[in-house]
Amino acid sequence: MKTVFISDLHLDKNQPELIKHFIEFIEGYNEEIDNLYILGDLVESWVGDDDPAIGTDQALEVIRTLSKKSSVYFMHGNRDFMISSKICNKYGMKLINDPTTITIFNKKITLMHGDLLCTDDIKYQEFRKLVRNEEWQKMMMTKSLKERMQYAESLRLKSKTETDGKQEFIMDVNNNEVENIFREHDADVLIHGHTHRPMVHDINLNKKMCKRIVLGDWGKQSHILEIDATGMNFKKILLT
Ligand code: MN
Repeated sequence: MKTVFISDLHLDKNQPELIKHFIEFIEGYNEEIDNLYILGDLVESWVGDDDPAIGTDQALEVIRTLSKKSSVYFMHGNRDFMISSKICNKYGMKLINDPTTITIFNKKITLMHGDLLCTDDIKYQEFRKLVRNEEWQKMMMTKSLKERMQYAESLRLKSKTETDGKQEFIMDVNNNEVENIFREHDADVLIHGHTHRPMVHDINLNKKMCKRIVLGDWGKQSHILEIDATGMNFKKILLT
């Protein structure tokens, strides 16, 4: 049984190459995957159930095909939190909470997108709270598709300018928050993405050795995680 974890694909109509690589990745890998976990930011933007998914619809169809023989799980990221459970059902994905804890081969593994761990970015955490609120989302959905798409675009530009001006540590996880998560979930392993800093961190938590595995964003390469009976394999994949 093989379980594969990916995140931060940021699939976008402006990057047809990346969409092609993702489709090839899934199709080439199809036979081997029993469970696929997509830990957020599958697409660069999503504005509601009526999102036309221009350019990304093919990638979503490939997920739907995969879901006929494998279990596909999806967790919201900060780009695609408007993907509803209805859309998830349409493409064969089971929507899971952030965080979610699973057990594989007797290891307790907590899954997150990763943005909740970045508690030093107070401004972002306030924004997150606002946009994850049901009332706010209902209000957004009263706007036209065009308005929502324009709003999403303005947020992307704003986030890009702000990110450029933010100090490095603010954009990374807060270590106290990481430790809190390990304790709260009694986890052996924490897997997340979001920071685009792929790495395996060994953490000594009161003499218990834990691992925090940060998945990579997708570009010319990425870092994914596979777990099977032989163990965990943090793997660099080339997408060219
Ligand atoms: Mn993210």
